[in-house]
Amino acid sequence: MKLGTTAVHAGCKPDPTTGAIMTPIFCTSTYVQEYPAVIKDGYDYSRGKNPTRTALQENLAALEGARHALAFSSGLAATNTLISTLSPGDRVLCGNDLYGGTYRLFRQVFEKYGLTFSIVDSTDLAAVEQALKTPTRLVWVETPTNPLLRITDLAAVARLAHDAGALMACDNTFASPWLQRPLELGCDIVMHSATKYLGGHSDLVLGALALNDDELAERLTFLQFAVGAVPGPHDCFLALRGTKTLHVRMQRHCENAARIAAWLDEHPRVQQVHYPGLPDHPGHAIAARQMRDFGGMLSFVLDASVQEAMDYTSRTSVFALAESLGGVESLIEHPPSMTHASISAEQRRASGLHDGLIRLSVGIEDVDDLIEDLDRAFTTG
Ligand SMILES: *Cc1c(COP(=O)(O)O)cnc(C)c1O
Repeated sequence: MKLGTTAVHAGCKPDPTTGAIMTPIFCTSTYVQEYPAVIKDGYDYSRGKNPTRTALQENLAALEGARHALAFSSGLAATNTLISTLSPGDRVLCGNDLYGGTYRLFRQVFEKYGLTFSIVDSTDLAAVEQALKTPTRLVWVETPTNPLLRITDLAAVARLAHDAGALMACDNTFASPWLQRPLELGCDIVMHSATKYLGGHSDLVLGALALNDDELAERLTFLQFAVGAVPGPHDCFLALRGTKTLHVRMQRHCENAARIAAWLDEHPRVQQVHYPGLPDHPGHAIAARQMRDFGGMLSFVLDASVQEAMDYTSRTSVFALAESLGGVESLIEHPPSMTHASISAEQRRASGLHDGLIRLSVGIEDVDDLIEDLDRAFTTG
């Protein structure tokens, strides 16, 4: 079955009692047992198992081409649970352009339990190979990254990780499984903030892991239950409704972002556009190989001060000024003063985050309105 059909149908069977086509929201904490410890299909308590969550997990597994998927109360809860499989002394090698919350979780929560987190430019394979000379349990990368849309060659890094005896995990939030399927490229574990494209409507916070390994899946299922960072049935329902249209939304996100990237690239006030679909983007060739299309996220550099760039982001009206991404509505933000404000100005500039950098999460509106909105913000400035 092709992915669009999978997105609509996987995990969803008509409800056996009524034939309801939509999976019900099973608002129940517990399940009646016919006799002590006679449990139907493992349903004894909803932290362990809930039918709405089961349907979502089956859908997410199918989307990632995985044997198993587990849903969590947020993307970070999914990451937290995966890192909980490690032991004191274990080392994690991370890409250098991680989601800030992931970095914060690693450094400020897990380091004190004796885990070490090293950072490498995962777009530089020689640097990854060198870094893997130190014993490593897990390699953690994001691609495309936030906000510079850097591209890591997942198949190549997975090979290096496996040669060094490490597992390879990929945060696939920015791409979504419609654009990129890391397990097929050799990764062992996929993590998602389903808060973004999978949910797609900015109306929930939810996370997921997907993987093929039965033994690791069993440990993660135990931890999902034992740690307890599970999503409620309402959020599972919303996520499941979101994934049914993932393929349709992603096509429009990509189409709109490509048009806007090309338009910005020609604009006299724009110094640089970061979009993997542009032929001069350093990761373009790899992205063209490992992704179906180039995604709905882009950033661009205004020849402007921090203040002028902040002013620009406050002048759009279709693009809403907000953090987060991946919803149907277009969002604009200024990473230096918003999502990446915790990084010092020197560190920020050293890592290529220009003062005038602006990030767009391009929605599925009519692209002419989006371009007109961005253009008006230039001319009224
Ligand atoms: C949002 C996000 C996360 C964290 O997910 P939450 O659902 O907010 O916990 C992790 N990685 C990336 C790339 C994200 O955009």
